[in-house]
Amino acid sequence: MSTQKQHKTKARRDRRRVRFTIKTTGTVTCPKCAKPILAHRVCASCGYYKGKEVINTLKKTKKKK
Ligand SMILES: [Zn+2]
Repeated sequence: MSTQKQHKTKARRDRRRVRFTIKTTGTVTCPKCAKPILAHRVCASCGYYKGKEVINTLKKTKKKK
């Protein structure tokens, strides 16, 4: 088993590990409920798109209850 030749600082280690983090791209906040949603898609929580209600989400929530 080999041993490391030189000590790596926490900063160097963490800079390398940044690549492993999951990048969330293309997300915008919903203008109605201010939740993070995918751009150019209907909001799953309020069902609004372009200022109009596209999906009735109240039905879903009533069923769950
Ligand atoms: Zn919304």
